[in-house]
Amino acid sequence: MEYIMDNIQILYGSDLEMKTDHGVWMKDGEIYNILPKKDYPDHVEYVDGEGKYLLPGLIDLHVHIMWDGLKDPVATLEEEGYEQMLIRAVSNCKNYVESGITTVRDIGSVDDIALHVAKGVKRGLVIGPNIIASGKTLTMTGGHDPFWARFVDGRDEALKGVREQIFKGAEVIKVSSTGGVYGRHEGESVGNAELSMEEQQVICNEAHKFGLKVASHAIGRQGIFNSIQAGVDTIEHGHYLDEELATMMEEKGTAWIPTLFVYQQIASLEEIPAYAKEKAVEIVERHEKAFKSFFDRNILIGAGSDAGSPCTPHTALLDELFMMYKFVPNIKEIIKTATINAGEILGRRVGKIQEGYKADFVLLGKNPLDDLKYLGEVEQVFIDGRLVY
Ligand SMILES: [Zn+2]
Repeated sequence: MEYIMDNIQILYGSDLEMKTDHGVWMKDGEIYNILPKKDYPDHVEYVDGEGKYLLPGLIDLHVHIMWDGLKDPVATLEEEGYEQMLIRAVSNCKNYVESGITTVRDIGSVDDIALHVAKGVKRGLVIGPNIIASGKTLTMTGGHDPFWARFVDGRDEALKGVREQIFKGAEVIKVSSTGGVYGRHEGESVGNAELSMEEQQVICNEAHKFGLKVASHAIGRQGIFNSIQAGVDTIEHGHYLDEELATMMEEKGTAWIPTLFVYQQIASLEEIPAYAKEKAVEIVERHEKAFKSFFDRNILIGAGSDAGSPCTPHTALLDELFMMYKFVPNIKEIIKTATINAGEILGRRVGKIQEGYKADFVLLGKNPLDDLKYLGEVEQVFIDGRLVY
């Protein structure tokens, strides 16, 4: 498939610089060239972009595609069982695509549902975003999110656990380095460090050997510290980030996926299970403070919504961006967290309108750099150069 998207306003390259007098030449699912009209070749057909804004497809770096995003997804799973959850995961693909989200990273699903859906999308059986899925979360026995965990204790089990996920086709590895807010009624606390630094080190070394990145669920300070030291690629959540940890992240090149919106939801909504709400209320202020304090540091920040979690629908990436914007009112930098930065964090050629990048993009009627809310007015979505919405 080959065409030139003409008559568009391109948010081009690493700085979303506006290019108005150029067309984008798509070929074999990639952006082949970006060129002025006078240089268009004769043999390639044009598609009229009607003066719209061409933005890279959005990337959500933290989702749970099988969860329902209602008040208590774990309870839904218990009621509905595996087969219905699989169907739900497939149907959720549509929500992402329709919101302009062309890539998601799923870092937690029961029975490897996300791996199966990812495969279905790759095979063309399902229309959906590119899904980079983790397989089972590597967790200490009795640790965070046991329902989708592979329990590992000690270096040997950690090694075996990570190899199992790679063998099954995981494209990212998820570890739990602290307790969490939502998931279990009792038995975990966000301040508790879970997998040790040594266990995480084994996991990181092995994952990196095979070209996979490691994402760490980390809320409390000791767990964040252990993960950064061990060499994880992304800190998920990171409420208790402080000056010393931020400096360590700068030195180690660790990225941060704050997931602000989901914790605000859990802390503020009535219908959320009480055990989770209580924990969230205690940490949301820290989260906001950390985000404001460290946004301008030399730490790559990526957008992740935790979609599927309590009261966090599969379109919540936009809510996450609005929340970030509320705390740090810099439209361009906020859009980058779900495009340029996110692509860099994944280590893939996505999230940018530039030659050699995957032809995943959205057409918007209005310029999102003028007002972030225009991101919600998606007119068309393309994945691999094909119109999917
Ligand atoms: Zn999550």
